[in-house]
Amino acid sequence: MAPDLATAQAELRRIFGFADFRGRQAEVIERVLAGQSTLAVMPTGAGKSLTYQLPATLLEGTCVVVSPLIALMHDQLRSARANGIRAATLTSVDADWRETIDAFRAGELDLLYVAPERASQPGFAGMLRDGRLALFAVDEAHCVSEWGHDFRPDYRQLRPLMDLFPAVPRLALTATADAHTRADVLAQLGIPADGLVIAGFDRPNIRYAIRPRQSGSRQLADLLAEQPGPGIVYAQTRRQVEQLAEKLAAETGREVRPYHAGLPAEVRSANQAAFVASEDMVICATIAFGMGIDKPDVRLVAHAGVPKSIEAYYQETGRAGRDGDPALAVMLWGAGDFVTARQRVAELEEARQPGERARLDALAGLVETPGCRRAVLLRHFGEDPPPTCGNCDNCLDPPKVVDATELARKLLSAAYRTGQSFGLGHLQKVLTGAADERITQRGHDKLSVFGIVEREEARLIAPLARALQARGALAANDHGGLVLAGDARAILTGDAEVAIVQPPEGRGRRGRSRGA
Ligand code: ADP
Ligand code: ZN
Repeated sequence: MAPDLATAQAELRRIFGFADFRGRQAEVIERVLAGQSTLAVMPTGAGKSLTYQLPATLLEGTCVVVSPLIALMHDQLRSARANGIRAATLTSVDADWRETIDAFRAGELDLLYVAPERASQPGFAGMLRDGRLALFAVDEAHCVSEWGHDFRPDYRQLRPLMDLFPAVPRLALTATADAHTRADVLAQLGIPADGLVIAGFDRPNIRYAIRPRQSGSRQLADLLAEQPGPGIVYAQTRRQVEQLAEKLAAETGREVRPYHAGLPAEVRSANQAAFVASEDMVICATIAFGMGIDKPDVRLVAHAGVPKSIEAYYQETGRAGRDGDPALAVMLWGAGDFVTARQRVAELEEARQPGERARLDALAGLVETPGCRRAVLLRHFGEDPPPTCGNCDNCLDPPKVVDATELARKLLSAAYRTGQSFGLGHLQKVLTGAADERITQRGHDKLSVFGIVEREEARLIAPLARALQARGALAANDHGGLVLAGDARAILTGDAEVAIVQPPEGRGRRGRSRGA
């Protein structure tokens, strides 16, 4: 007879020392114990591992866990073994694979962690047949979908493998799935639609704030000075990580260490270990940092630039405040971040472009919204949140919104009439009637758009351009010239409107940074 939830609850105390299940863990575990295939969508830190580790100890046979990163597997292995669970990994870096296979065959393993590429290797299915399987657990299951933000072709080999064992239930786990990706994961892994369990995504103790980047390191230094406790600053490139780490350490006097894939392995693991142990260290990192790190007291997650997607943003900011105490997530964004990201999308193979573009549009929507950030995030994950949260920058200090449709038409016309080959600086001069040699030489002072923007409106041009680039109505060519794109035409013909958040100078910078 299958073990029931009461037994599971007793084991939860005995093995893991936890008093109760959290969120929807119990529901997922109950399904797994009953042999029902399930896709569990739970935010980072919700306790996904437990939903297969606990059944693995209760069910007869071994739970095969597919996990995308060897480092992640070894972390999981350590913590499972620390709880007295019989676990092993089968990866290219393990020397003891003989013993592992023998233990599996002898039925002495609760958990066997493997990389997805193992699934397509000849002989693996045969090996699995020699033992007894209790469950297939697929971690980071969004990797199976091209709609997900982290597609890994090896994940496509899992379905054929699992199909060879139709009696073995499947448990797919992910923190990051919008409705589209979710449906795809179900289909790709052969899990019925009614096997979907979505846990609440809200992290009420995280305060979200998103601001235009003005000075980069200065803004971040101020932030670090305001927010004590462990912090993570995400930067785009390795070079940026190193420069920022140095600058922030010098400017704040705090301990700031770099972390990126280009550092020697010893340095990386030393910095990571120091961070995990510290109570006041800041780690400046690329997104290589954080997967599988269990540090509950991170007080600040800052993004020095725009993340890859809302999913990635949510996962990265989700590393803040896992202990439930107040934590801060601040993103600094620049129009250039979106321009680069959109250029990268344009270079992708045709079939992937619409999905990636939609991902950027969603991100731009989050960045540009004058409304509640949390509401945008939760709606993105398919929830139906209240319109305000009281704990994000826009709820705490509602920005004024200005209708910039008319100004947008002027800006787009200026870009168009000057041949779509000039940057913002030039267009600003044309619009405000500030003629210089370059302008007169090209006769841009004779254009109908010359000097049509009033002085008071002039300061809206830059934030407007940023907003138009974020939403894709303006794109940059290889030489930095602004080109009409996306819904620019609809804006020009009056079929689309443009509202922007009033820029900070207009409503007091002090008020803006209050409480964040
Ligand atoms: P996820 O994989 O969803 O990001 P983890 O499985 O790493 O999350 O779990 C996050 C943390 O929550 C871990 O420290 C884990 O031990 C803890 N945890 C999991 N379930 C419970 C529970 N029922 N009660 C208390 N802590 C839990
Ligand atoms: Zn809010």
